Amino acid sequence: MKRFVIDLSLLPEEGQLLDDELPTTIFDLPEEDAKPLGPLSFRLQAQRFGDELLLQGSLSAPFEFQCVRTLTLFKKTITLPKTAISLEIGPGNEIDATDALREEILLNFPPYPRCDGGDDPAPCDIDPRYLAVDNPTEDDVDVPPAAQGDSRWAALDALEKPDEQS
Ligand SMILES: [Zn+2]
Repeated sequence: MKRFVIDLSLLPEEGQLLDDELPTTIFDLPEEDAKPLGPLSFRLQAQRFGDELLLQGSLSAPFEFQCVRTLTLFKKTITLPKTAISLEIGPGNEIDATDALREEILLNFPPYPRCDGGDDPAPCDIDPRYLAVDNPTEDDVDVPPAAQGDSRWAALDALEKPDEQS
């Protein structure tokens, strides 16, 4: 289905289990945000209580997030096994619950997505190549012979030792 529209005139008094999918296009997220990788699946019991429509059940939708630490792209399915959404019933006979489901999923996005929290957790290790960017000259610098450096520190040690002992 393109939109999740519930026809109240067809909804039995004891409620009805609605089990379907909504396309990724409903998310309509900005380019730099998470990317939907599949439909939003739902399995919801819909029941009317006075002027409210209650939807209870499960939602899930897979996304591609970017790890805040390593910038790796990874897949994570937002799964809400027990959700309850209450919608006010207006004058019409139909209720479009698409946006309510969308919101529910978006509200449960991880605030700081990390690749070790994905569907297929990867070790969240920063690539050493990126670490090397902090010290780009390290490999190019002529390293002085170790003995020279050592003797310098040895001299300092010798100076400091009397103080330590006193
Ligand atoms: Zn990571």
